[in-house]
Amino acid sequence: MTDTPLKLFNSLTRAIEVFEPVHPGEARVYSCGPTVYNYQHIGNMRAYVFADTLGRVLQWKGYKLTHVINITDVGHLTSDADEGEDKMERMAAKEGKSAWDIAKFYQEDFERDLARLNVQSKQHPRATEYVEAMIAWGEKIADKHCYELDSGLYFDVSTVADYGRLARAVTDEGEGRIDTVEGKRNAADFAIWRKTPAGETRQMEWDSPWGKGAPGWHLECSVMGEKLLGFPFDIHTGGIDHREIHHPNEIAQNQAYCCTGGLDDASHSGAKIWMHNNFLVERSGKMSKSSGEFLRLQLLVDKGYHPLAYRMMCLQAHYRSELEFSWEGLGAALTRLKRIVMAVERLKDAPAGDPLHQKLAPMRAKFAEAVSDDLNTAVALVALEEALTVKKVDAGIKRAVIEDMDAVLGLGLFGLTRTDLRIRPKGAQITAAEIEAELIRRKEARMAKDFATSDAIRESLGEKGVEVMDGDPLGWEWKL
Ligand code: AMP
Ligand code: ZN
Repeated sequence: MTDTPLKLFNSLTRAIEVFEPVHPGEARVYSCGPTVYNYQHIGNMRAYVFADTLGRVLQWKGYKLTHVINITDVGHLTSDADEGEDKMERMAAKEGKSAWDIAKFYQEDFERDLARLNVQSKQHPRATEYVEAMIAWGEKIADKHCYELDSGLYFDVSTVADYGRLARAVTDEGEGRIDTVEGKRNAADFAIWRKTPAGETRQMEWDSPWGKGAPGWHLECSVMGEKLLGFPFDIHTGGIDHREIHHPNEIAQNQAYCCTGGLDDASHSGAKIWMHNNFLVERSGKMSKSSGEFLRLQLLVDKGYHPLAYRMMCLQAHYRSELEFSWEGLGAALTRLKRIVMAVERLKDAPAGDPLHQKLAPMRAKFAEAVSDDLNTAVALVALEEALTVKKVDAGIKRAVIEDMDAVLGLGLFGLTRTDLRIRPKGAQITAAEIEAELIRRKEARMAKDFATSDAIRESLGEKGVEVMDGDPLGWEWKL
């Protein structure tokens, strides 16, 4: 769609690089997905809005996209230091369900949120489907790179060149970045396989050459990335926290598996480009799903904010900047979205015109520059708004240009209506019987030609989220 080269910030080299696909005409992206032991908070969802926007830009540039978001349903411990319980099993015990049921429930909830945010990826492989492949991977690297302790099989980070380069961290013992499991050779060594302690049984456990147990968390992403996308693939994404431990460990495993040297050749890390979104932060700290309360997408909807207002909020910030969440900020994003949707509604019925029309060329150029500049969606949004306000341009031309821009931003503007954006807050409850009673009162008022009362009733119902539908051809009198 555009000749502007796509420039992306690679965390591995800490530099902006021009995107060159590994396979001509294709883009293969892997995003670390959620641990499905609980609901995702909106901070987590920022990671997928970012990865989805990246995918959309790649498609817009003409690449055939494969985008994998994995589902962690085993192996993620409550501590990053290979200690503590498996998050899945702990939640299962707490809720009195099986770990499998927990995973299914929260995966479905996650996928619902992805859809509500217009995230396109439908490829969500589960870690438990790849345990055999993980064991085979472990067998391949065990001799040269691992050692066994009573608690499991551990990766010796000193056996690969440049360990921790992604994090820009030193790996010596004194650093204390990760607590040690008894017997670990280096502080940063991590589990490839965690043995089930003698005399215990886990809900999720498999036989392996190192005894009954479960895989370490980092292994699944190495294995699924290699199996589904092939090494090296183009881009690996995740939240900024993964730059410090999870991704350096994935890279170490990939180096070991591919028998490669240092990381000066970036393709030795498994993926050419590693990208990280910064955090969504909340002053009162309620977002963290470990602290018991959830700022999740459903809460936003319950309070009357359309999910795409949250996507808008994400797009307004650069993905590498911290974004502070506030209800006012979300409200402003919703208002901005409403304005755009109202302007777009006027274009909906126009026959598609020529998207290359001169009149909108400056906005298209600005848009292309912005998204190609390490996904500067904030500026791209402004270009879209400018294109919408240009005077004396055929509606069909505008429509074609806005549709093209929206394919990148993912707001689904042509599928949204003003009514969609008017969500009834959960608190505003009204029963069907109450609505019927009000409508009878309104009918009586109208028969008595008391139109002021009739209008007041209609308005007060509207405030409670009830739309009165006079003269509806199907005979529906109201809808919520
Ligand atoms: P988890 O389920 O904890 O593995 O997290 C899922 C994804 O969300 C990972 O890519 C995390 O790095 C990312 N993430 C976690 N918290 C936040 C946050 N507050 N803002 C943005 N991304 C986050
Ligand atoms: Zn991962």
